[in-house]
Amino acid sequence: MQTTLFSNRILPTTAVHRWLLAGVMLTVLALGWYYPLLGFIVPAAMLAGMLGGMLRGRHVCGNLCPRGSFTDTLFASLGPSRPIPPRLFGMPHRWLMMTGLMGFMLYRLAQNPGSLDHWGLVFWQMCLITTAAAMILGVLFRPRTWCAVCPVGTFAGATGGHKRELAIAESCRSCKLCEKNCPMGHAIAAHKAVGALRNRDCLQCSTCVNICPVSALELRKPDTGTNKIEAFPADKAPSFDKAA
Ligand code: SF4
Ligand code: SF4
Repeated sequence: MQTTLFSNRILPTTAVHRWLLAGVMLTVLALGWYYPLLGFIVPAAMLAGMLGGMLRGRHVCGNLCPRGSFTDTLFASLGPSRPIPPRLFGMPHRWLMMTGLMGFMLYRLAQNPGSLDHWGLVFWQMCLITTAAAMILGVLFRPRTWCAVCPVGTFAGATGGHKRELAIAESCRSCKLCEKNCPMGHAIAAHKAVGALRNRDCLQCSTCVNICPVSALELRKPDTGTNKIEAFPADKAPSFDKAA
């Protein structure tokens, strides 16, 4: 089990925890056609991701998202680990995808606004379509590739992604073990000179924090200093990149 104090977690991440969340996902996918009301788990998860995103960026993506846990567990031992194409992180097409998917969902909901079963089926369909896309991207690149374009993640990163940073201590040896294991493939060691990785698409999963052999990493609020991580010089402190 990963620590709850140092990594500033809301919930611990264990294999069991991930499989339970993945099970929620599989249950919705497998039974949603027969029990449409199960589909309402989808907007509940979306709402949690968006509200949580406004408070803590992509923390929900990295720790509580059923689909994220589904791709993590499904591809953990099977999937490749090719880099996510950088162009996928570009914002214009991500906003376009969000608008398109949300617009399509609203259009489908409006076709039978009085039927909860219809709404449940629409949510299930949206889940099926996006999960299929996530699996294809996971096979082509790495398990969390969908997270680079996920509309909920995009919203979370845009509204709250600046509220956490990954502080990098001077004790970092630049071995890059952290970034090799980062589900998003973020370049961490390259930010040692400025003392922190500030990337709105950091999932705050703490994988890097827990794998670093010299405990050089810490997820924290940008304005929160600790004894463990030396504060970076003010003139070198990076600002958050909107597209990062
Ligand atoms: S694993 Fe630790 S020591 Fe190695 S590059 Fe990452 S932060 Fe630095
Ligand atoms: S930088 Fe660290 S906390 Fe952020 S997504 Fe990568 S492994 Fe997870």
